[in-house]
Amino acid sequence: MANLAKSGYFFSKNTHSRIKVGIKKIVRMNELPLDSKYMENPLFIGRNRSKAYKDLKNKEDPWIPLNSLFKPIPSSDAATNEWGMLSSLQTLDGDWDMRKLLRLFNRRTIDNINKIPCTNRNLKDKFIWIGNSNGCFSVKLAYKLEFEKNITESPWWKHLWSSKLHERLNFFMWRLASKGLSTASNLMACNLQIDTTDCIHGCGCLETDCHIFFHCQVAKAVWFATPWGIKWDYFVSNSLKEKLNILANPIGVLPIDSADKEDFFLCVAIVLDQLWKIKNSTIFENKLFSLGSTMDWLKVRFREAKYAASPYITPLAIPSIQKWHKPPPHFIKLNTDAAIRDGTSMIGVVARDHLGEVLKIRAVSFPSDNPELAEAYGIFQGLLLASKEGWTKLVCESDAKNIISSLNGSNLQLSHWAAEEVLKDILLMQGLFQDVVFVWAPRNSNFLAHFVCNWCIRICISGT
Ligand SMILES: [Zn+2]
Repeated sequence: MANLAKSGYFFSKNTHSRIKVGIKKIVRMNELPLDSKYMENPLFIGRNRSKAYKDLKNKEDPWIPLNSLFKPIPSSDAATNEWGMLSSLQTLDGDWDMRKLLRLFNRRTIDNINKIPCTNRNLKDKFIWIGNSNGCFSVKLAYKLEFEKNITESPWWKHLWSSKLHERLNFFMWRLASKGLSTASNLMACNLQIDTTDCIHGCGCLETDCHIFFHCQVAKAVWFATPWGIKWDYFVSNSLKEKLNILANPIGVLPIDSADKEDFFLCVAIVLDQLWKIKNSTIFENKLFSLGSTMDWLKVRFREAKYAASPYITPLAIPSIQKWHKPPPHFIKLNTDAAIRDGTSMIGVVARDHLGEVLKIRAVSFPSDNPELAEAYGIFQGLLLASKEGWTKLVCESDAKNIISSLNGSNLQLSHWAAEEVLKDILLMQGLFQDVVFVWAPRNSNFLAHFVCNWCIRICISGT
């Protein structure tokens, strides 16, 4: 039995037309053109395979993990004629074949490929869901991902939420940007009846957000009196949204030095808030605007806000003093940490004995920017160092909580999926020593390893 609607036939190129007609009469199905595709792949592949797979190679191919949207770019057109299985890009040792990579891909692609950790062991293929860190699929996460994708956050909101403004100012800025302040134009947009639509300061203009905060004579005077002497005359036609974007990214548009960017935004929020207060006190308290007292008041508020935004006074920032502890006699303690910068990382390993004396320090650069993978690789490097030095009893201390929990509970899914192979290598290596314990330590007591990797990544050196 055959489903004729879903079946078809094709003739090879040199089939005689009379035979074709005869066959067509017998087989009541559709004739398929030679370039037919099934699930986007060519159905018929002739001798010219590079032609058949041309489209296939141009597809966005997310085979580089941790960077799923990255599309590999060939070094030249000629490189696209060469293909093979992924394993053909590796040497016999299991490392990436750099000579081959250099021949086939451009530099950025090679950097991305290098981020995939290699392993010598024969591993089974498996599915990994790259939507979350442990690689396991769940409907809840898929929903969340799809939901978040549809909310495109504008740079303005990102800037606002990452700024160090006080919650109250943040809330005011949010109201302003979402057109939630009770200006005449906003109230009218909601079909609300209002007595007067004119600016309270007597300019004879409609009271809009843009007028009150930028083009009103009061606003102009205040902006010009700030240390930056801002004039909005050139931006009359810009919308509120455009003006807020300028305030968030003023460099090159307003006379702001990039070093002052943060102070400027803090000042902006205070000025806007103050202009709103001036409007309200004029209406409700019959107060007259005075530039001098407004500027004095702004100075005080700016100083207060800057003090409040300073990290030194928040009670949470006071570190609890935690000391590094010596390992028991006959044990060597390996403290490891990783620092990440510009897409690569640096591993720091510090080995100390039971007297607290430093025996070895090692720094290794690692081409990944995944923190958990890098932390796991740090522990792996620690074990390599220990095996080279002939140490047999080890305490491996790291501040990567997930990694340590994974190693202790042998539940590798607690960590990022990309770290799994390195974690397996660590567990395998553990068997080579008499005694290995994995211990989590807070960052302060892991300070030396932390310092080593940060210092080495800054000055670009590695070694033991
Ligand atoms: Zn006005």
